[in-house]
Amino acid sequence: MLPNFREKETVLLDMDGTLLDLHYDNYFWQHYLPQVYAQAKEIDEASALAHLMPIFKAHQGTLNWYCVDFWSEELGVDIMHHKAQVADRIAYRPQAEAFLQTCQDEVEDTRLITNGHRKVLDLKMAVTGLDKYFREMICSHELGAAKEQQVFWQRLQSMNEFEPETTLFIDDNEAVLDSAHKFGIRHLYSVAQPDSVTPRSSLSKYPMLDDFFARAD
Ligand SMILES: [Mg+2]
Repeated sequence: MLPNFREKETVLLDMDGTLLDLHYDNYFWQHYLPQVYAQAKEIDEASALAHLMPIFKAHQGTLNWYCVDFWSEELGVDIMHHKAQVADRIAYRPQAEAFLQTCQDEVEDTRLITNGHRKVLDLKMAVTGLDKYFREMICSHELGAAKEQQVFWQRLQSMNEFEPETTLFIDDNEAVLDSAHKFGIRHLYSVAQPDSVTPRSSLSKYPMLDDFFARAD
């Protein structure tokens, strides 16, 4: 159980791998898109993967990495069209909706903060109805910086002030949690199993959650 989360003034929640199963995103980028790319370029899947992996790696942690328009242009593939093709894999993580309902009932200021692109957020909202739990849903593109960068947090705070000391933040990305820690956000939690079909991770500097009501450690 998250300690005293009801007493926090602000709860910040990541989307992919935290509220929603990262399986959808991993499946799309690691399996589905390489197949689409292989067909488009008339090469085999192994060659497609060998070509794509270094390009993915070069952009990880940047706004480009999270930008569907960038990837559509870079790869010559309509990313949103293909994301919609496999949208049946978009799903909540265990207990996420119960947790969101509790936040909505008991926490003054709950915000979704995602590095995901607004077009992807729109697709995920259409499938899950996630938006009914939030007054604010912030995409890092709209702040011009990814959560990995300090300027993201500065801009988030200047949009709508919050007190880092009484803020709780859950994210499955260690670099993002480090960035939030550096900014001064006090109550930080990681996620033990962001993707339901890959093994749980056992290492994080931050307490890990199994689901929102159970600690993994
Ligand atoms: Mg995430």
